Amino acid sequence: MDDCLFCSIAREGAYVHKAKGFVAINDINPQAPVHVLVLPERHVDTFREIGEFGAKETKQMLEFVAETAAKVGLTDYRVLVNVGAAAGQTVFHLHWHILGGGPDALAEVPAAVGLAEPAQAELEL
Ligand code: 5GP
Ligand code: ZN
Repeated sequence: MDDCLFCSIAREGAYVHKAKGFVAINDINPQAPVHVLVLPERHVDTFREIGEFGAKETKQMLEFVAETAAKVGLTDYRVLVNVGAAAGQTVFHLHWHILGGGPDALAEVPAAVGLAEPAQAELEL
């Protein structure tokens, strides 16, 4: 998609990792010492459309998430997908957040990324 930020980044971004149709980038506004985003190169709006990926591609995407975490040095981490605006999704190109870094890092990581406090409370996340 021409007007999609993450399509542009997938084409020409500074990657942490890239393979088999997927890229990983550092989040511009990290919520943990390590905060990486995994995106498919091809545009899918949200996780709701996960069925648009075939079985092989879905497995590759999940393996790519795990590979990326290992590549950036994480053994313990949180994987998170915001699905829809009310859940905090702000960029409508499917992406997986990988958050971690350091023994106490996850204690500081919110259960939801990108939600203001009142919205988190409303959703009881
Ligand atoms: P969402 O809120 O949609 O789940 O996550 C979008 C994420 O993309 C946010 O964590 C935000 O900080 C990150 N982000 C937004 N714009 C950019 C950008 O231009 N570059 C990078 N690397 N990350 C971005
Ligand atoms: Zn896109």
